[in-house]
Amino acid sequence: MTKKKLATIWLDGCSGCHMSILDMDERLVELSSQFDLVYSPLVDHKDFPEGVDVALVEGSVSSDADAHKIRLVRERTNILVSLGDCAVTGNVPSMRNSFGADAILRNTYAQSAAFTQQSPPLDVPKLLPIVRPVHEYVRVDVFVPGCPPSADTIYTLLSQLLAGQTPNLAGLTRFGA
Ligand code: SF4
Repeated sequence: MTKKKLATIWLDGCSGCHMSILDMDERLVELSSQFDLVYSPLVDHKDFPEGVDVALVEGSVSSDADAHKIRLVRERTNILVSLGDCAVTGNVPSMRNSFGADAILRNTYAQSAAFTQQSPPLDVPKLLPIVRPVHEYVRVDVFVPGCPPSADTIYTLLSQLLAGQTPNLAGLTRFGA
């Protein structure tokens, strides 16, 4: 059996969705015979490859680096999954939208800094004015809400996608019943 190419992406999120992936525990070993993990914060691949079958995207689009990355991921991926509420709705990162990026940067790097008040270092990705969910930048094929989605939900999703089936998460996500 040809293995599927699986990728996981971390945009502006807390890593909780990736922790939920790891929470599949021994079921990850069971599924691993069906995929190669070709890109992920969990492994040491530097470049997002061509021809990815499934990409699980955690987090919202908050910076120019996020926007560039998600467009590249979309170009090179067959099935793109918005995994978790930050990817699906903006969720926690979008709480800054009502303040504006400049106010957040001022507060973080100057007003809240006791000793080293400064401007953001040049190598910090530029914040976009508004945090947006993934589907406002690129086409999304599957939405999986939850903060984070449960390991059971992710296991069911991956089992179905790796088998070439259309995902059916009814009863597993809070919107799926
Ligand atoms: Fe973290 Fe929840 Fe966002 Fe996932 S959806 S990255 S768990 S805040």
